[in-house]
Amino acid sequence: MDVTGQIEKARDAVRRIRCDGETSGLVPTMGALHEGHLSLIRRARDECGFVAVSIFVNPTQFAPNEDFDAYPRTREADVDACASAGVDLVFAPNVATMYSPGNLTGLHVNELSEVLCGPFRQGHFDGVATIVAKLLNIIPADRAYFGEKDYQQLVLIRRMCADLNVATEIVGCPTVREPDGLAMSSRNAYLSAQQREQALLISAGLFAARDAFVAGERDGRALEGIVRARLKRGEGIEVEYVECVDALTLERVSHVADEARICVAVRIGRSRLIDNVRLYAGGGGE
Ligand code: AMP
Repeated sequence: MDVTGQIEKARDAVRRIRCDGETSGLVPTMGALHEGHLSLIRRARDECGFVAVSIFVNPTQFAPNEDFDAYPRTREADVDACASAGVDLVFAPNVATMYSPGNLTGLHVNELSEVLCGPFRQGHFDGVATIVAKLLNIIPADRAYFGEKDYQQLVLIRRMCADLNVATEIVGCPTVREPDGLAMSSRNAYLSAQQREQALLISAGLFAARDAFVAGERDGRALEGIVRARLKRGEGIEVEYVECVDALTLERVSHVADEARICVAVRIGRSRLIDNVRLYAGGGGE
């Protein structure tokens, strides 16, 4: 496995693979790797001859009041996990490498940036769109793998790649959960035992809404109400939003026809947690 922080070295590795005609896959991450990340890496490993993982805590997707400095950084363990998972290339640049002084360029994806998490995280999705575009320019993989856990991010990156004619296929992967339902997240490390208990109300609420949907409930507000009712039981939970949205446009829907997503963001202590489930009339599963 090659490990590099240098753009040219990463480019060389990908060029060599292209000459060999191998299919390539990229899994962009901010490190602090857990089973959620590893599920993306395994999927890439199954589908691609060459697998690259990027590890970069991207400062431009953190607002000034957010947790950029505190974000967990576990580089050695991450590199070991990548090696065990059969990764070919780890690209772990530093901030100065990715953003040269005088950098003037950034991306904005209209509409999709402005709903759900958008109003609560100023500039976040501009930072996400920009860094993913930069990573795909450095490692122009055939496929790039993203988690449905960050559903708005997945939809926005698909749109950005379509709009900018990026050749990479964006592959969405199901949310990996702890056995008790909590969606895995690097930010779960911030939770105390008591806060973690409260955090279980998020997935419990989402699953209850999904059950109601399967039983025939199609009213968007009623489905949101089921999640809110669960969240209310948690004294320390501050709800940012609970929204039942169209799976492609992310617009709030009052009636769910065949498919939608119900998305949640809450604050518990100093952690901000997000989660979502698919509502799909054609069958179960996320
Ligand atoms: P992050 O390191 O948080 O930027 O996440 C890197 C990638 O892993 C993103 O595509 C996330 O959506 C994905 N990811 C994070 N947590 C999970 C999870 N619990 N299940 C599936 N994918 C995840």
